[in-house]
Amino acid sequence: MNNSNGRIEFFEIKSGKTIMWTDGKGRIGVNTSKQPIDDPQKASIYGKTNYHMDIELLNACNKIAKGQKLTPLEESSIVALWHEILHNRQKESEKFLVEKRCVEGITDWVAVHTYDTFLNDLGGQVEHKEIIKDYRIGYGHYIRDIKNYIKLHGLNEDDMLQEMLRIINNIDCSGYKKEILNWGNKNSRK
Ligand SMILES: [Zn+2]
Repeated sequence: MNNSNGRIEFFEIKSGKTIMWTDGKGRIGVNTSKQPIDDPQKASIYGKTNYHMDIELLNACNKIAKGQKLTPLEESSIVALWHEILHNRQKESEKFLVEKRCVEGITDWVAVHTYDTFLNDLGGQVEHKEIIKDYRIGYGHYIRDIKNYIKLHGLNEDDMLQEMLRIINNIDCSGYKKEILNWGNKNSRK
C-alpha cells in the first residue's frame, strides 16, 4: 500500500481541466488556471462564470482562520481538497486507470458526504452542503452516475456511504467496482 502517512505537500498545476490532482503519496496539485462554469444554472448558483481553484482554496483558508463564512465555491475547494486527501488513504493499484470512473465516483461521493468533519476540524462551518450535493462542480458527472445507480436500485444512501467508506479503507482500487456492484445487488429494493 502506498500512502503518505498523513504528510501532504502542495504544488501548482497550471493548465488542463483537472482542478486538483494527487499522486496518492502525499503530493497534491492545485490548478492555477481559469476554470469555466459552463452550465448557466451552476454559474448562477455559484455566482461566477469562472474561477481559479487555487484562489478559492486560499480564500477559504483565510476565511476559516478569521471565523468567516465560506461561499459555495470556497466550500467546494475544501471538498476537492478532502477528495484528494481521501485518495491518499486508498490502496493503490496498477488498475486504477481501468477502474478510474468507479474509483473517482466513490471517492467523490464520500468526499461530498463527509467533508463536514474535515471542515469542522479546520475550524470552519458547513453552509452549502445541499448546493454541493446537487450541483457539484468539477466532479458533477461522478455524483450523477451514483445518484442514478441509487435511484435505479432503490438503495439506502446512508448504508451505501458506510459501504463506500469500508471499500476506501480496505479494498484495493482494482476491486471497487466489483465490491460496490455486489453490495448494490445484495441491497437492491427494485
Ligand atoms: Zn479523484
